[in-house]
Amino acid sequence: MIAPVLPTYNRASVSFVRGEGARVYTEEGEAYLDFGAGVAVTSCGHAHPHLVKALTDQAQKIWHTSNIYQMPGQDKLARQLIDLTFADTVFFCNSGAEALECAIKMARRYHHATGNPQRNTIITFEGAFHGRTLATIAAGGQEKYLEGFEPRMTGFTQLPFGDHKALEDLAAQPHIAGILIEPVQGEGGIRPVPHQCLRGLREMCNAHGLLMLLDEVQCGVGRTGKLFAHEWAGMTPDIMAIAKGIGGGFPLGACLASEKAAQGMVAGTHGSTFGGNPLATAVGSAVIDVVTAPGFLQHVQDMALLLKQKLAGLKDAYPDLIADVRGAGLMMGIKCKVSNVDLQKAALAEKLLTIAAGDNVVRLLPPLVISTDDVSEAVDKLDRALRHLSSARAA
Ligand code: PLP
Repeated sequence: MIAPVLPTYNRASVSFVRGEGARVYTEEGEAYLDFGAGVAVTSCGHAHPHLVKALTDQAQKIWHTSNIYQMPGQDKLARQLIDLTFADTVFFCNSGAEALECAIKMARRYHHATGNPQRNTIITFEGAFHGRTLATIAAGGQEKYLEGFEPRMTGFTQLPFGDHKALEDLAAQPHIAGILIEPVQGEGGIRPVPHQCLRGLREMCNAHGLLMLLDEVQCGVGRTGKLFAHEWAGMTPDIMAIAKGIGGGFPLGACLASEKAAQGMVAGTHGSTFGGNPLATAVGSAVIDVVTAPGFLQHVQDMALLLKQKLAGLKDAYPDLIADVRGAGLMMGIKCKVSNVDLQKAALAEKLLTIAAGDNVVRLLPPLVISTDDVSEAVDKLDRALRHLSSARAA
């Protein structure tokens, strides 16, 4: 008999009823150190007082009115994001995939509005993940997500990382609308794109009249130690999709754009019933308050450095189990020589939450508010998990 909840997830057997900071608790009160943050979502930690207040204050006032009416909460959050980024305008939605849908539609619409409707194809990269809607699985191009869901949506061409010749040739074609990339691939296995490559893509877009689209759904909102990952590269996109961290645990996504890129998105071209509802934007504004507070991003960078150093120590200690440690900021990946799922399970047994990714990687995506003690505890737990795997292999 089918499960009451559609069985599309491989869930761990544990469940959590409460969270505080970097810890979550089971019904029985067992604490787990959360180095997954619900896949990079609980950026400010669990039950952050400023977020709880923003949500509960708003909950006493009004929950939902729809986008038929003026939305002061959206205006406020849009203004915050605009003041902090390249963007001139923001569309609010509820998830990462929806933010990408808006980004893709906007790119096509831009070329339609500027007299080049044949420019309808977006270049994406191998290992990409942009969501699970029909458009975003086509954009991501991963067979495991596409299988059985044909016909595949057209309008995307995927290239391997590093094939500059193929990229140059394709970008010059008259049907290309833009380039879409995650500055740090998340699901693909924590693969940061070199900064000079991001700058090179920007230049290529400028040269050919293409739009540069960034997917910062996983790597944005402070995760890499800058508010947005592309800031490290000293470039800006035309369109950027964000979600996850901006809601801090409340479903919220956004598509940020320059005025130029957004010119085709006039009234009636896009919409969402729930998108940017008053509860979501109240929390989003509170998240921005937290991550832009003086010293916050420096704290992320400090914790990231500490974590990276300690993980390098683990790599040295377990050369048979760890192939590589890589990432940016508090978005770290351990590329395993054993099964990444085995390491994830061994860490879970030590009450450390981590997340498996592609390329046999275990991801560490802790809340950005972790302390040095949290980093030490997580690495101790990983050490025990690795020791366990090592002795299991020897046996
Ligand atoms: N883009 C990236 C880079 C992601 O990591 C994800 C989710 O993991 C998505 C898009 C899709 O986001 P959502 O699951 O909120 O639709």
